[in-house]
Amino acid sequence: MDYQLIRSKRKTLSLQINNNAELIVRAPNRLSVKKIDQFIDEKSSWIDKKSSSIRANKPHKPSYTEGEKFLYLGCEYPLSINTDNAKGLRFNGEIFNLNSGGKQDFLAWYKASFKKIALPRLEYYAKKHQFNCNQVRLKSQKTLWGSCSGTNNINLNYLLIGAPISVIDYVIVHELCHTIHKNHSKVFWDLVMQILPNYKASKRWLKDEGYKLHQIQ
Ligand SMILES: [Zn+2]
Repeated sequence: MDYQLIRSKRKTLSLQINNNAELIVRAPNRLSVKKIDQFIDEKSSWIDKKSSSIRANKPHKPSYTEGEKFLYLGCEYPLSINTDNAKGLRFNGEIFNLNSGGKQDFLAWYKASFKKIALPRLEYYAKKHQFNCNQVRLKSQKTLWGSCSGTNNINLNYLLIGAPISVIDYVIVHELCHTIHKNHSKVFWDLVMQILPNYKASKRWLKDEGYKLHQIQ
């Protein structure tokens, strides 16, 4: 395991994982490398846990190069860079195609796809369960997946198009249930559960994997 060693007059060993998920070891001047390595070994599960959580919270930015993978409906598809003159991002069900550009093309494509795939699902759930919502706006927020205002305007984060359809349904149903209950009370969750009995798996997906949807920003 690689680490940066900082020796000083201190009396104890300490380990720190910095913002780049690198291990920093602070050690007393005279402590042997063998002792240091032994200590690191003992703490290896803590180190792994901590550094992977830092990596997860600090996703890498895409470079929009050949073979790089992008999420769509919960699956990853590779990007192919073409030299033809076609404009914008295209997707053939297996591969994304782009000749130049990057982030803006993906954002535009994700937004259009969300409109085409997710909005009809919102209409379906609203009609089936008689929810009344006003305007629906699509945004690419960094922190929210969706929101519902006091006047029942719903905002949805179109980056959700990268998530499995069950997760998209969960966010839609969650916000529709807020048109009736403006809180996260038990009756609110009971209503969500009634419509989507497996909603907890989607909630978990957002918590564990949701950061991947933001990588594009
Ligand atoms: Zn909520």
